[in-house]
Amino acid sequence: MKNDLLVGYRFLTNNWAQIQASTACGCCNCLQTFLPVDIVAWTGLQFDDVDNPEAVARQTALCPHCGSESVLGNASGLSVDPQFLGRMNEAWFQRTIIRKPSPKT
Ligand SMILES: [Zn+2]
Repeated sequence: MKNDLLVGYRFLTNNWAQIQASTACGCCNCLQTFLPVDIVAWTGLQFDDVDNPEAVARQTALCPHCGSESVLGNASGLSVDPQFLGRMNEAWFQRTIIRKPSPKT
């Protein structure tokens, strides 16, 4: 159980190749599910690397609904149903939400 969450967390970043191979994706932040083609934004690619297939494959998907780097594809072998996304959210994202904003200067 716990292990799934750890494995899942690893798949949330540098997941371009995994997402391309997936038939369904889900977001662990907003818990929406969507198709890989719905993802229009990726992060992590340097301008110099746009022609480098390895660098392209290390990109991280941004959720088309909330913009978070928290997209899981089912090619990871993990389920992207709302239950599992909810468990991922509890395990990894609640902490992010309550992180204190930096003091205003
Ligand atoms: Zn989202």
